[in-house]
Amino acid sequence: GEWLGLMGGGQLGRMFCHAAQSLGYRVAVLDPASEGPAASVADLHIQAEYEDETALLKLAQRCRAVTTEFENVPARSLEVLAAHCRVTPGAHAVEIVQDRIAEKAFIASQGVAVAPYAAVRSEAELCSASANLFPGILKVARLGYDGKGQARVRNADEALKAFAEFGSVPCVLEAMLDLKEELSVVLARGLDGACEVFPVARNVHEQGILAVTTLDLEPFAMTERATQAALAIARGLKYEGVLCVEFFVLRDGQLLVNEIAPRPHNSGHFSMNACVTSQFEQQARVMAGLPLGSTRLLAPVVMLNILGDVWYPTVEDVQVEPNWAGVLAIGGTSLHLYGKREARRARKMGHVNCTGRTLAQAVEAANQVVGLLRLPVAATA
Ligand code: ATP
Ligand code: MG
Ligand code: MG
Repeated sequence: GEWLGLMGGGQLGRMFCHAAQSLGYRVAVLDPASEGPAASVADLHIQAEYEDETALLKLAQRCRAVTTEFENVPARSLEVLAAHCRVTPGAHAVEIVQDRIAEKAFIASQGVAVAPYAAVRSEAELCSASANLFPGILKVARLGYDGKGQARVRNADEALKAFAEFGSVPCVLEAMLDLKEELSVVLARGLDGACEVFPVARNVHEQGILAVTTLDLEPFAMTERATQAALAIARGLKYEGVLCVEFFVLRDGQLLVNEIAPRPHNSGHFSMNACVTSQFEQQARVMAGLPLGSTRLLAPVVMLNILGDVWYPTVEDVQVEPNWAGVLAIGGTSLHLYGKREARRARKMGHVNCTGRTLAQAVEAANQVVGLLRLPVAATA
């Protein structure tokens, strides 16, 4: 069969491999780690650094198309690959969204609102930042995820201290907003510009990490605006592939974009059990130039993230395998584990999708899982 290629070796890559293999493709993974969630299920693991030109050439020559499963893949490597094979998403799109300064400027240029912010590349820029940005969050412009590389700062003094602690690397200072809720839109844009948009997800984060995603069959007040904003961003980027746009909804009804991920997203995992086509299958379809699948939601669903904390039910540092049989005994649950060898606290280890005939039913099943695994956040309708 034909080959598809992947840059990166984490759980998003693992789920991509499964989906691509179901469509009859073989997958080659370029990942510097000796073993990882994706490499262990791939048909070929090229173990090399992401900048290694020989390895990139090997990947490109074997594969019909190459994609990425994390936003920090060097844009230059995607350019090297693109000289030999199709690369989705392209380097230009990834380059923008992997830098919060470029990302926010781009989103605003598309007529879509972002949180009040200032680019901070020097102490001077920080000192001239508007007082309205405090209290705020200083975020490193590159390489942050799961709330890492972020500091909550009450005033300019605290911001200067945090900036120095981050090594004076480029940052953005964002106003701390009073969030009513958080939403996300995952979509796929094909090589011909056709888009399929997944239904809008409602997300609850805990300590900067996604905890719960909820979807009902009915659209709600923000559905149309969020969908249109995500589409405008995808078109503006001339995007090819699967993209996620994260949104903030403020108490006064404003809808702002938080950030963009140039790949399938944790908040799109519901699609694996609740949609006609999963976000990972969609990613493989775009790469292969196949028609996009239907994103229709088949059932109300609650997705629960499972972090490594679940392996440590006591204060002692002893790992105990969670009660998966108990989870699976609850009606409507589907378990997805990422095959990580070591459960560390705050590390994403898996997720559970809970579907129901009604959202109330899905929420009830989810809260049984929450109780059983002692997850930190309960589901709500
Ligand atoms: P991800 O893993 O999603 O890439 P990240 O490290 O890029 O995370 P953000 O998405 O910037 O982090 O922020 C993580 C979470 O922190 C948000 O989903 C939100 O809950 C909270 N947060 C971030 N920025 C703000 C803000 N300006 N005001 C209020 N809450 C915020
Ligand atoms: Mg992010
Ligand atoms: Mg985020």
